[in-house]
Amino acid sequence: MGGDGKPSSVFSKVFGTDGLELAKSLLTKASKAEDDSEIKAEIEKRLKMLEPKPAVQVECRVCGSSFEPKSRGRLKAKVCQECIQKKDQR
Ligand SMILES: [Zn+2]
Repeated sequence: MGGDGKPSSVFSKVFGTDGLELAKSLLTKASKAEDDSEIKAEIEKRLKMLEPKPAVQVECRVCGSSFEPKSRGRLKAKVCQECIQKKDQR
């Protein structure tokens, strides 16, 4: 068993965490040095792929407002903090 609990992207597999930063800086440099707008766009596309994804917004099942779920272990919250607190108070 590998015991890998983390979801690993292709990039982090290839470069590792430090390599990811390196790849980013290399791509940024390449983008600045590049005059061809098509190639520039392609590099920027790759750079965006390397960026960590923005926090996921989940719609609360109770009140319907979107919120950032705080993952507790493997469980993903489906109810916002406010509604959880309301529930606890009853
Ligand atoms: Zn709610």
